[in-house]
Amino acid sequence: MSNPLKELHCYLRVSSEGQKTDGGSLNVQRNHGKKLSKKLGLKYVEVFEGSSSTMIRSEEDFYNSPRPQYRLLQDMIRDKRLINLWVWNKDRLHRDNLEEEFFNRFMIQEHKINFYYGEHGDLLRLDTPLDRMNNRFFSIISTYQKDNTSYLSRKGKQEKSRTEGSKGVFMGGTVNFGYTTKNKKFKKHPTESKYVKKMFEMYSRGESLKEIKTYFDTNGVKPRRSKLWSLGSLHKMLMNRVYIGEFIWVDRKSEEEFFITVPRIVTHSLFQKVQRKLTVNQKNKGSNSRKFDTLLDDFLVCYCGENITSHIKSTHGKIVKKYYYCHSKNNKWKGKKVDVCMNRRSMNMDETDKLVSETVREVVGDSNLLKERFKIDVLDKKSVDEDTIEIEKDKLQTSIDNINKELEVIIDSLSINEINHLTKKTETRVYKEVKKTLEEQRLVQEERKEQKVDEIEELDNQKDWVNWVTKYSDEINTSFSNITSDYLKGIVSNIEVSPKMGKNRDDEEKQVGHIMKINFKLPIVGDSIQYNDVKKKSKGYKLVNGKKSIKKEIGINVGGRKKK
Ligand SMILES: [Zn+2]
Repeated sequence: MSNPLKELHCYLRVSSEGQKTDGGSLNVQRNHGKKLSKKLGLKYVEVFEGSSSTMIRSEEDFYNSPRPQYRLLQDMIRDKRLINLWVWNKDRLHRDNLEEEFFNRFMIQEHKINFYYGEHGDLLRLDTPLDRMNNRFFSIISTYQKDNTSYLSRKGKQEKSRTEGSKGVFMGGTVNFGYTTKNKKFKKHPTESKYVKKMFEMYSRGESLKEIKTYFDTNGVKPRRSKLWSLGSLHKMLMNRVYIGEFIWVDRKSEEEFFITVPRIVTHSLFQKVQRKLTVNQKNKGSNSRKFDTLLDDFLVCYCGENITSHIKSTHGKIVKKYYYCHSKNNKWKGKKVDVCMNRRSMNMDETDKLVSETVREVVGDSNLLKERFKIDVLDKKSVDEDTIEIEKDKLQTSIDNINKELEVIIDSLSINEINHLTKKTETRVYKEVKKTLEEQRLVQEERKEQKVDEIEELDNQKDWVNWVTKYSDEINTSFSNITSDYLKGIVSNIEVSPKMGKNRDDEEKQVGHIMKINFKLPIVGDSIQYNDVKKKSKGYKLVNGKKSIKKEIGINVGGRKKK
């Protein structure tokens, strides 16, 4: 029977890496253990962790490799089969300082183990608080060193994948116009960024891509890869969210997306205004009547989901026919998939314009709500303060910029968490928890951001509305003569057109007309006032909202059906 009091258990563990760096090869460790046993008058008992069957290439692999003898040591301590323990390097015994803390507290202190370590067999003292604190302190430093080594190698991998991936990100290996790079980071290009801003401003004011192209080309502003600008690349630039500071970098190999915050060149407000303009102008593509001012081009949509655009036929410079019609046929030719549209007949432009104008005029003229809004928004001058709106918008923009920075940190942390998980640096449980928390945070921030963007839009709408009311206030109170598309933009969101089917003279099912649903921005169709006391009108009233839309029909006249 062995007597644990008379034995020194020597825990030996080697890694190929460790042998090179601290000289603690198996033989060296064994010799020192034997020497110390002799010195202490104890019997040498070897506890050899053995070389793990798994391939150990790095320090990290070493610490994560299985340690059956380490478990056995703890069992022996619990069973009082081990009293004296020696290790060559006490950092090598534990994976991290949490494990070390646990071992010291529940093994060494609890079971009063004599724990020797190192070449000289120093006895670990844990008797006093100072001893324990010192021990913890060294353990933390050593964990930091281990941690730092693996952090550096991880960082290196990450950095490498970033630089490799960046070849795919910058289109054609070029950084976006308006930016330059410094230390692999986006920086605003001092002159180019000014032109980017100018471009957004021009487009938001209604200038065309062609005008922007001419402006750029004649001011010596050069695109990255050619001599002159193309309309397509300008169009793409206007849609690129990089200019509001959002850059999504996609790792080509992993298809992982990195959200990178870059310096913002334009505000969200300006960017959104441009996006709305782009949508409208995209809709009007294919219409040949842009040089004429049509009333309803920006409003008409077909029930099939396609655009309705205006067309003007002229021979020898003389207009012979003006009409609106659904684009579905044209789109089909271009190979676009659309539902079958029954709205095959075109609409006479003058008649349609007249019907819409009359209807809108009537609705607006009868609306108490508009009169009320006019009173509040223009006469009271309360919500009309443009400066206040601008200040509010600035504040919102600053919050968005800050949210973007937070998002970048969150997304960085997410990818570090992934890497830690892959390299088995963190336990699955911890990894999942961290991931969940970070993703929740990400969602919260993204929602916050969306809300701020909406608020900016709301403020812009408010500004537009106030401008509109101010401009057309006279027309609201009196009857006006002319309805323009600018006027309509203030109150009409769109006009949906669907076909009216019926029997023609030959008793065939044919399209006999168009049904137009005019959608207003406010519930002004048939709104009313309700007096608190009908007998005493001085007691005030409240507004009762009307509907937001009105339907009108327009027939197809025989004249329009004649063929040439
Ligand atoms: Zn259609």
